Amino acid sequence: MGSAGTRLATQDTAAPNAMLRALLVEDNALDATLVLRALYKDSFDVTADVVQDEAAFTQRLHTNPPDVVLADYNLPNWEGMQVLAVIRREGLDIPVIMVTGALGDVTAVECIKQGATDYVLKDNLARLPEAIRRALREKQERQLRRQVEDDLAKKAEELARSNADLEQFAYVASHDLQEPLRMVTAYTQLLGERYKGRLDESADKFIGYASEGAQRMQVLIQDLLAFSRVGRKESAPTSVDCNAVMKEVQQTLTSAIQESGAVVTCADLPAVWADHTQVAQVFQNLIGNAIKFRGKETPAISVRAEKQDQQWLFTIADNGIGIAPEYAQNIFVVFQRLHTRTEYPGNGIGLAICKKIVERYGGKIWVESQPDRGSAFRFTIPLHGSERNDEKREALA
Ligand code: ADP
Repeated sequence: MGSAGTRLATQDTAAPNAMLRALLVEDNALDATLVLRALYKDSFDVTADVVQDEAAFTQRLHTNPPDVVLADYNLPNWEGMQVLAVIRREGLDIPVIMVTGALGDVTAVECIKQGATDYVLKDNLARLPEAIRRALREKQERQLRRQVEDDLAKKAEELARSNADLEQFAYVASHDLQEPLRMVTAYTQLLGERYKGRLDESADKFIGYASEGAQRMQVLIQDLLAFSRVGRKESAPTSVDCNAVMKEVQQTLTSAIQESGAVVTCADLPAVWADHTQVAQVFQNLIGNAIKFRGKETPAISVRAEKQDQQWLFTIADNGIGIAPEYAQNIFVVFQRLHTRTEYPGNGIGLAICKKIVERYGGKIWVESQPDRGSAFRFTIPLHGSERNDEKREALA
């Protein structure tokens, strides 16, 4: 046999059923015939190219791509193991079964390590058909898995792109809407001031509605802008001392705390790796809500944090009106509220901002609550890389 190889086939007698293209790396013509016969006996309709060296092998891989490669380990001109290297180099997914006279355990293990699917001894060729079927089955499963993974990756990419587009849209829209809206607000206010009592009573009312609507829209747009800015902020995370954040937030909320008589108790809090302003925003929104959605009793709000496996778990609990479990997810969606603005003021964006910030740092946020039983808002922030290492060192000490 020359290096160009030989083509053998079994389809000239009875009518077997499973079509198979095999590429045999074999120097012994009789052995090649025996291999084909073993396959034919097991109802494979096999066509096979037989080659003995790297050049012919590589050429056949491309001109007549096989379903399976059956390679003898001991060849005079080439090493059987190189077959595996060529297939890897060419980036192909073709099962290779070593079909060989004798193969020590160590060599067999090495072949499998290098990527062979199986090995079959020449004096046990009856095992070959099943080995091929298994290899083809595994290849099919691999391809299916790869396809599912590719589809998933594509979907994730599309989703990320459409999220980025949406975010960009929300940002541009809310940013650019501010300017004309400022005009509307300013002129309706001016109309109100200048013509109040000079037109009829309905006109005063209409101007009042228009002015109120424009102001509300301004707040909505500012909130939306704040929401879309969360993802845009590029500042690198730093160590943020949550005790300091809590002090600031209590300062900002002084009038709400005093008016409601709220008692805020706060345990010693850790530092987290994040953006200071964003952490403050989360605390402020949650504590602000705990005061706003108070019940009949004086608000009692507690803030604490506990270290879990790889994260900090923060809890901000109140004794307010609580939330029915069926709304526990909805409230984190932009503009979702459970009350009218006359009952409780707000736009329904505070918790959506908290969620976006927490998730940006790889954490989660949720609420545990029952109506009239108060609420516990909980969120996690993963430990920073260096803190994780400290953890490991402590565990080893
Ligand atoms: P807003 O406060 O402007 O309504 P949020 O996004 O902060 O918007 O909250 C969404 C909704 O979640 C609120 O309208 C309220 O129904 C519910 N909620 C939030 N915090 C609390 C709380 N501490 N107790 C009870 N309900 C709450």
